[in-house]
Amino acid sequence: MPELVFFSGTMDCGKSTLALQIAHNRDARGLQGVIFTRDDRAGEGKLSSRLGLVTEAVEAPEGMDLYAYVVAQLSKGGKADYVIVDEAQFLEPDQIDQLARIVDDLDMDVFAFGITTDFRTKLFPGSQRLIELADRLEQLQVEALCWCGARATHNARTVGGEMVVEGAQVVVGDVNRPAEEIGYEVLCRRHHRRRMTSAASRAGSLSPDVLPVASS
Ligand SMILES: [Zn+2]
Repeated sequence: MPELVFFSGTMDCGKSTLALQIAHNRDARGLQGVIFTRDDRAGEGKLSSRLGLVTEAVEAPEGMDLYAYVVAQLSKGGKADYVIVDEAQFLEPDQIDQLARIVDDLDMDVFAFGITTDFRTKLFPGSQRLIELADRLEQLQVEALCWCGARATHNARTVGGEMVVEGAQVVVGDVNRPAEEIGYEVLCRRHHRRRMTSAASRAGSLSPDVLPVASS
């Protein structure tokens, strides 16, 4: 049975690398995929991983009907055996419904990859819809680590080096606030709650009451 699978994790947990690996394994068996992405770090129409691999992809902007796109590919005589979606958290809820329709009406597997929560610890709308609709949820095995060594479960945003917990869910660089000023870091929940990034932990290492250290 074809499935809608949501592979989720924090930033830096190897999602895009796994997406590329799935595409590679299926290509090797003669299967052809449609790869959608949105706002990949390598630019429009690319799926890239932090390990340096990159492949061509279809940019899925707001308002694009993903189901209609795949149907159009097939009716033009194109081959499509499965669908991969990277950065799925950025998709609109309606686009996630279109992915479910691809699975149910076109009998194709759809593998979606994304971050579940944003820097405010709130679900991205696309991820929320995936959790609601997916046949299967997979948490990625390649776990990112907080600077303390614990499993990193939360995404932090920094602006000019300071951790923030308010602001737009998705930031596109503009004149007033260039994107390069904004950084991201993965943290464990404890350090996300304490707003303790790796830089803050170094700066605050003189105040042990902020970060209790068990000494035995
Ligand atoms: Zn930590």
